[in-house]
Amino acid sequence: METLLFAAPASLAPALVAGLFGLLIGSFLNVVIHRVPKMMQRESDNYVAHESGKELPHTERYNLMVPRSACPHCGHQIGAFENIPVLSWLALRGRCRKCKAPISPRYPAVELLTGLLSALLVWTFGSGVAGLATLLFAYLLIAMTFIDVDTQLLPDDLTFPLLWAGLLVNLDGTFVPLRDAVIGAAAGYLVLWAVYWLFKLVTGKEGMGYGDFKLLAALGAWLGWAMLPTIILLSSVVGALVGISLIVFAKRGRDKPIPFGPYLAAAGMIALLYGEQIGAVFQGYLA
Ligand SMILES: [Zn+2]
Repeated sequence: METLLFAAPASLAPALVAGLFGLLIGSFLNVVIHRVPKMMQRESDNYVAHESGKELPHTERYNLMVPRSACPHCGHQIGAFENIPVLSWLALRGRCRKCKAPISPRYPAVELLTGLLSALLVWTFGSGVAGLATLLFAYLLIAMTFIDVDTQLLPDDLTFPLLWAGLLVNLDGTFVPLRDAVIGAAAGYLVLWAVYWLFKLVTGKEGMGYGDFKLLAALGAWLGWAMLPTIILLSSVVGALVGISLIVFAKRGRDKPIPFGPYLAAAGMIALLYGEQIGAVFQGYLA
């Protein structure tokens, strides 16, 4: 899998441009994270009402563009100068300009994370097809991570495009040969599907959602089947560490489900960047 190793890192300038672009995309991802679950809820409410012949509960337009962003507390419409990534939040000291209601620090955090990852990816993979593809990979994973944290759901509207994009980008072997990508997608789905049923048979509980299978299928499509053990191992290690600290420090109940999607997404991101090296270390321990 030498294909994952790329030519010398690109120069600083494209990475900086990618970082600034990433800040703006991060701002858009905040909208995606906030609105996609609401859009899905509206669609399903309308469907249920339509099926039972009732009046549709949601008729006003609501998508990623309409209506314009507003403060959830006072409805104050957010102007262009209040919408500059990270800087506006700092300038406003994390409060709405009109009603002074606090604005979650998660907004600038998502923007910063997206900007930093964009710079790192273009620095590592260059500004060609591979580099741009990794940006799409990162943006979809960031959106899924926070939607899963908020709602315990991984929307098909995000997992499927990530899967198709992974297969398409590997048509001419950008990251792995197409054969490895196709097998990776199928194996990724089946592995977690099997774990899910085993867990259910043994404990009678549902440990994961179907969205998790689709996400691992997508990661398999991007990184190939050979990377799946590394991804699963990484996500379990990170998941166990975060899960235990949540139970110990946040006194969170052990029965409260912790979404697995964010760990898979983080593991996929780490595997894209450092999977080869980590895989070699694991193999060293096994041998
Ligand atoms: Zn307000």
